[in-house]
Amino acid sequence: MKRRDAIRNLSVLPIAGAAIGSVLPFESIMASTPPPPKRNLFKELGIRTFINAAGTFTAMSGSLMHEEVLDALRSTGHEFAMIDEVQDKVGAKIAELCHAEAATVTAGCWSALVLGTAGVLTGMDVKKVGLLPQLDGMKSEVLVQKTHNSGYVHALTNTGIRIVEVETSEDVEKAINEKTAMMWFLNYAGPDGKISDKEWVALGKKHNIPTMIDMAADATPVENMWKFNEMGFDLVCVSGGKGIRGPQSAGILMGKKDLIAAARLNAPPRGGNIGRGMKVNKEEILGMYVALEKFINTDHVKQWKIWEDRIAVMENAIKKINGVTTTVTVPPVANRTPTLNISWDNSKVKVTREEFQERLRKGNPSIEVMGGKDFAIGITSWNLQPGQEKVVALRLKEEFVKASV
Ligand SMILES: *Cc1c(COP(=O)(O)O)cnc(C)c1O
Repeated sequence: MKRRDAIRNLSVLPIAGAAIGSVLPFESIMASTPPPPKRNLFKELGIRTFINAAGTFTAMSGSLMHEEVLDALRSTGHEFAMIDEVQDKVGAKIAELCHAEAATVTAGCWSALVLGTAGVLTGMDVKKVGLLPQLDGMKSEVLVQKTHNSGYVHALTNTGIRIVEVETSEDVEKAINEKTAMMWFLNYAGPDGKISDKEWVALGKKHNIPTMIDMAADATPVENMWKFNEMGFDLVCVSGGKGIRGPQSAGILMGKKDLIAAARLNAPPRGGNIGRGMKVNKEEILGMYVALEKFINTDHVKQWKIWEDRIAVMENAIKKINGVTTTVTVPPVANRTPTLNISWDNSKVKVTREEFQERLRKGNPSIEVMGGKDFAIGITSWNLQPGQEKVVALRLKEEFVKASV
């Protein structure tokens, strides 16, 4: 008798415990319960699903979780556990994987930015935790390079701090005063700023000011997962649901032990703090761990080749069409994955970028690509399921040929 049949038969015994003794683990009996009928909620609610040839965009639901991660979510949903204990155990594993002193799972990278900053401001003082975003008795300024001062700083100003813009190392030296709480670095803006990541860390260390880096969408290359911890950043923030393919509403805050502990004081399950709304359930905390482990253990050379091969299939389908130009590039910092840039001469291919995107979107299956300049689109392959590159290639060719004069 196969194991599954054995379990199925056991489950029909009137009182399983009495008949088989107490040796059979409870879970085995639970496992015999047939799964509930599958519902196609997308269909039921009329939600459009699509092939994502664009990228790990938040609005497009980020990335798809691997089976192992979905298994982690499902398999941990049947038991209770203390959130702090789940965070302790998962945090220790993540810290080890990423060469950090400590780590905690947050509700996305944004929440890592808020909680990390809050921890810097409050330390382990629970009275201060209760005060935020009022900064009485706390430091109140965060240094940011002018070219890094994007919309993401709103995560920092949530805590009540004020952004102080700097451009050069001399500016930093001048700007630092008794109110300076932290120095923040936006990794993708690194090449645009005058101060490099290493110099930023050195300046922070020189003045004993904690440094934080936002590397939300920069999980690739995989070495980034420990590079900034080793470089000496005190806090490192990353998205769970972009390149790592964890739960989209999870992220990681890692770094110095005392700062992670302070960040957690500002976070659920504790209340009366600014982080109370940034809850992560135990399934997602554990799912984040499994996703990170899988991501780090992936054969990244092989993975890169798969991404390139898919790009080649799509490029080859259209590059000979009169008026169409293709190039393949890799973004320098964020979203590092082969990217197919397609542009066209509008005198030869009579379609606007918006129309072209709309035709792909309305086609069957629906396809999303990135918008580029006037007559240009962008495509990545890391969110494609195996074989979807052929579908995208076909649809691109169809639409370009149709629009050709
Ligand atoms: C996506 C992103 C965030 C927010 O991350 P979430 O995981 O969606 O909370 C923050 N910073 C940058 C640079 C990002 O790209």
